[in-house]
Amino acid sequence: MKVNCPTCQTELEWGPQSPYRPFCSKRCQLIDLGEWANEEKAIPVIPSENSDATELPDIEEIEALLAQQGDMFFKQ
Ligand SMILES: [Zn+2]
Repeated sequence: MKVNCPTCQTELEWGPQSPYRPFCSKRCQLIDLGEWANEEKAIPVIPSENSDATELPDIEEIEALLAQQGDMFFKQ
């Protein structure tokens, strides 16, 4: 039985002589895994941007904090 490498489409024999099947080589296996990793990284980009935005304090909060620190500085 022969299959085509999903990465480079090279035909290889499906069997013990092809330890990286369905890939023709470790390189192609790593490329495929890397593409999966990239896809997994790409998916949470949009939610993480939203969560970063919610984690950032409001400008009013920053100004209040700076005002507090300014008061403490002037009192000392
Ligand atoms: Zn290949």
